[in-house]
Amino acid sequence: MKLAERISRISVSKTMAVGEAAGKLREQGVDVVDFGPGEPDFPTPENIKKAAMKAIQGDFTKYTAVGGIQELRKAIVEKHRRDFGSRYDVPECVVNIGGKHALFNVFSAVVNEGDDVIIPTPYWVSFADMARFVGANPIFLHTREDDGFRLTAQMLEKAITPKTRLIISNSPNNPSGAVIDDAEYIRIAQLCASRDIYLLDDECYVYFLYGDRKPFSIGSQTEFKNHIIIAGSLSKTYAMTGWRIGYLLAPPEIIQAVVKLQSHSTSNPVSISQKAALEALTGPQESVREMLAEYSKRRAFVLERVRAIPGVKCAEPGGAFYVYPNVSAAYKRGIKDSLDFSVKLLERQHVTVVPGEAFGTNDHIRISYATSMEQLDKGLKRLHEFMTSL
Ligand code: PLP
Repeated sequence: MKLAERISRISVSKTMAVGEAAGKLREQGVDVVDFGPGEPDFPTPENIKKAAMKAIQGDFTKYTAVGGIQELRKAIVEKHRRDFGSRYDVPECVVNIGGKHALFNVFSAVVNEGDDVIIPTPYWVSFADMARFVGANPIFLHTREDDGFRLTAQMLEKAITPKTRLIISNSPNNPSGAVIDDAEYIRIAQLCASRDIYLLDDECYVYFLYGDRKPFSIGSQTEFKNHIIIAGSLSKTYAMTGWRIGYLLAPPEIIQAVVKLQSHSTSNPVSISQKAALEALTGPQESVREMLAEYSKRRAFVLERVRAIPGVKCAEPGGAFYVYPNVSAAYKRGIKDSLDFSVKLLERQHVTVVPGEAFGTNDHIRISYATSMEQLDKGLKRLHEFMTSL
């Protein structure tokens, strides 16, 4: 079979193997605890579902503007302005089919073959493959675990080359939950502007912030607006992963380029989902607060329990809904690496986690706490048992 060369540059994640093995065990009736999923375990809030049903009943089921309906784009920029003090206008906003599509379109619209894209590790798995797909070189920049995996301008400055086109930031981070300090973030934006490099900020977890920190978006720094691209998503904030609504806030030229691309590829995001998204952004926000309060409780619980396991270290995540413990102590006790750890944990204790190698660091595993307290309790007991039995 002859396939295009560009498709061979990317690969299906090795972590799929763990998911498949878990599926097989479940089919055999085994009680598997799943810490793998990167999606909320809550249902989509009622008011959002009702808005979608109303859209269907009102026959809002045809093509819309390629870049999303005007009222949704307006709702996105207005909410961003209210929450973060940014100053985007409708021509600086496009609606995409999920955050992933938003990010993919940015790579297509601004990155050339042979460019360097700086990706801080640990990183969300798709960034590297998006870079490879457009023929760019992913340059991995290692953040330090004992500094909570925080990204700094100084680290970036050393990694920049004349070929650097794009720098990725993802705060709060998937998988580590690390949050970049506000002042540091501004220094990073300043650096990008001074070197004429785009900063692509993936803010899909921007509302998942714990403790006393106030929500912050680098999009609020209007001075550096020409070099900042914000990719947002409704998937996690509103438990809407299946609805597929994401967006970009960026200079109008980039937005126009993305709309052009969408006009020849996907056309508009689903009309019904757009109406649901409009309700999500403009309707009551209680459900978001309730979900966050629950995540916050789980985070404290998981962190305490994980840290109590002999040989496990865990940096405190400031946001998102993951913890990223270092389990490398097990590598002295018969475990080869993070994939081997995950496979054996599943075989022996029936718990699914994502191996760190999927995120560019091999000493860790990712545990998602987007699952019930009961499941967390059961799964963490099993993880404890697994580590102490090695
Ligand atoms: N960015 C990060 C860091 C993610 O973790 C995810 C999903 O897991 C996405 C983007 C994409 O989310 P969606 O395409 O559902 O909006």
